[in-house]
Amino acid sequence: DGKNNGDQEKIQTKMLSQPAIFIPVDRKPEIQEARLKLPVLAEEQVIMEAVKENPCVVICGETGSGKTTQVPQFLYEAGYASESGIIGITEPRRVAAVSMSHRVAKEMNMSTRVVSYQIRYEGNVTSDTKIKFMTDGVLLKEVQKDFLLQRYSVIIIDEAHERSVYTDILIGLLSRIVPLRNKKGMPMKLLVMSATLRVEDFTENQKLFRTPPPVIKVDSRQFPVTIHFNKRTPLDDYIGEVFQKTCKIHRMLPPGGILVFLTGQAEVHSLCRRLRKAFPFRKANTSTGEDEEADTSEAMRKFKKTKQKKNVSLPRIDLANYSALPVDEGDEDRDAGIRDEEDEGSDLDIADDPDNTGEKADPCIPLYVLPLYSLLAPEQQAKVFSPPPYGTRLCIVATNVAETSLTIPGIKYVVDCGRVKKRFYDRVTGVSSFKVSWTSQAAANQRAGRAGRTEPGHCYRLYSSAVFGDFSLFSEAEITRRPVEDLVLQMKDLNIEKVVNFPFPTPPTGEALVAAEQLLISLGALEEPPRTERVKEMARARLSCPITPLGRAMASFPVAPRYAKMLALGKQQGCLPYVIAVVAAMTVREIFEDLDRPAGSEDESAKLTQRRARLTQMRRLWAGQGASLLLGDLMVMLGAVGACEFAGCTPKFCEDNGLRYKAMVEIRKLRGQLTNAVNSVCPEVGVFVDPKMTPPTEHQVVCLRQIVLAGLGDHLARRAQAEDILDAKWNNAYKTCLMDDPVFIHPTSALFKKLPEFVVYQEIMETTKMYMRGKPTGVQ
Ligand code: ADP
Ligand code: MG
Repeated sequence: DGKNNGDQEKIQTKMLSQPAIFIPVDRKPEIQEARLKLPVLAEEQVIMEAVKENPCVVICGETGSGKTTQVPQFLYEAGYASESGIIGITEPRRVAAVSMSHRVAKEMNMSTRVVSYQIRYEGNVTSDTKIKFMTDGVLLKEVQKDFLLQRYSVIIIDEAHERSVYTDILIGLLSRIVPLRNKKGMPMKLLVMSATLRVEDFTENQKLFRTPPPVIKVDSRQFPVTIHFNKRTPLDDYIGEVFQKTCKIHRMLPPGGILVFLTGQAEVHSLCRRLRKAFPFRKANTSTGEDEEADTSEAMRKFKKTKQKKNVSLPRIDLANYSALPVDEGDEDRDAGIRDEEDEGSDLDIADDPDNTGEKADPCIPLYVLPLYSLLAPEQQAKVFSPPPYGTRLCIVATNVAETSLTIPGIKYVVDCGRVKKRFYDRVTGVSSFKVSWTSQAAANQRAGRAGRTEPGHCYRLYSSAVFGDFSLFSEAEITRRPVEDLVLQMKDLNIEKVVNFPFPTPPTGEALVAAEQLLISLGALEEPPRTERVKEMARARLSCPITPLGRAMASFPVAPRYAKMLALGKQQGCLPYVIAVVAAMTVREIFEDLDRPAGSEDESAKLTQRRARLTQMRRLWAGQGASLLLGDLMVMLGAVGACEFAGCTPKFCEDNGLRYKAMVEIRKLRGQLTNAVNSVCPEVGVFVDPKMTPPTEHQVVCLRQIVLAGLGDHLARRAQAEDILDAKWNNAYKTCLMDDPVFIHPTSALFKKLPEFVVYQEIMETTKMYMRGKPTGVQ
């Protein structure tokens, strides 16, 4: 009997896992035509058969071959989205999740109620959703709520080659979830999609998949791309070099779009400005945003004026010193330290160019210059997909978003600066810094490949072939480069006690795991292991500490463990609304406008000086007086959040008061989200957040300090003592618990001149000095 039942289950399983239905999709003819040209269409049958026969399948194909947009549609048509589950696709970047869901909805001629997206703060998922694009972090949170992911019949992990931390963990988890689902008679499929070909980490990792999943290679029909290396490698002003090269391509070479790779948002804007100035064009219709400001005769006049200036040297951007510039978070963020090269004339001087035809006023067709980076507003981003205005040449200046996540049509020339901006952590001290470093060979080849999508192309590498030879072959997995306490806590909450044994595609270092467990123990999220004399036993015990009830509460908050601890403690003395606001403000990107930014012109410089004075005054006002000063920059943040909400959180208020509107909107959303999370974890507290918030009482300020200290206890610093100050480098310096070097209060801090004896800091950022700063740590 029992055997019979088993057979039945098998048959049912088989039936369920092989949908024989075909769900028709009503596509527009022009869409259908474009689809048919995509290489992945030729593999539809092979892919669908492999999916039918195997629980896990890996699909590998050049960027632009149609994986992201088409594979979900194949699955949909084959009936994988049904009552029993929907199709989920994860992307490491928010941009990709949003833009791909829109694109697929459009291709399928369906509403965004059916093809939807979910990212941290927003989404348009409904009960009708069949295909759901989301960030990998969102799916990881869902695993916590429902380990079997029962809402999904298929999970596609996209862009697996990016090796983002959450992607890596999801693959590890799904390698266990999929067999479990199949065993329980609720079949599920896993597709891993990747661009470059190093899939061995996934397929040949015995810990991950016992039987290696089949790998389907999508033939990319790539046209040949001629690679041109520079003879020499510019080490300082590579942006100037990029500018010259782009101008030259535009002047000399046949039609075809140009795609330029730089490292960050400020570089992108600066180059866009220079290019627009060099090849101005007047738009027929009205301009829509700052990113597309058409150059007017005013700009032209200025341009001519600057051309007459002689012997103006370019501002030098020193690569070796690059990390010394204050930079913002993220690989494609504002890097405030890059000087605006507005008034420089020498960049237009191409006398050293042997091919110079001697033309002065550029008679070329206009260059249609568009920026592209991940924080760009979606409408601006969408522009890169439309053909450029008639009679212009398209030129996209991008960060590495254009490397694999987004494919731009019509690119024939790629200009590659060869660099990428990365965040580096020191595992011991936790000091982090952004550094522009060389990219990997695989990434450089990806960039070059963008030139050969529609016809043979050219890639100009602004470095020598010898330098290329020294690049690492592949980019490192992110997980090996950052602290992992948030991941360890999430895993413990999933009852994975021995995190060391987790099937990571690439495991984090033992050192990082030990540091993470240590921190979590000190925060009270993990149980302290019993003491023993034996060092080895102790070390082993430390790596398998069970989670505490406090740890579980902390894991349910969508912020890093330190901040989760603050939330968990916040219910005391009516502090919760303040703690929520402070945590929200600490975990979004920079909320204040950068007052140290360089001015473009003298005129601007004078205005900026005035603005700086006024805003500093404002920040001092927010910092309050007396007891509230004890909260330092957190009080400034609280004041800013309260004032902004009081004024209705308008772009104008933010602009007038030196706050980043985007950050303030994010803080508002995060406050709502954190309030809900706190209410669901401890319903008895019943927090209600009044957005406007009355300032905390003196007593509450004291409590708030204690709560913040509880999360940042190891980030305590003490003013250098008299004996240290004998050495000049300790002037105004602080000593931390974690390292020997002096650290400093940042000039933008409310405490800059106050120098209290003890301070806590969020993190140490190495720029011109080691600065203690309020900056977010690893949260999704
Ligand atoms: P892959 O995932 O393999 O890199 P995609 O599915 O992202 O490939 O892209 C397939 C094709 O769809 C590309 O040629 C790309 O230019 C096009 N495409 C993607 N998004 C859009 C969009 N929003 N508008 C127009 N074309 C798009
Ligand atoms: Mg893709």
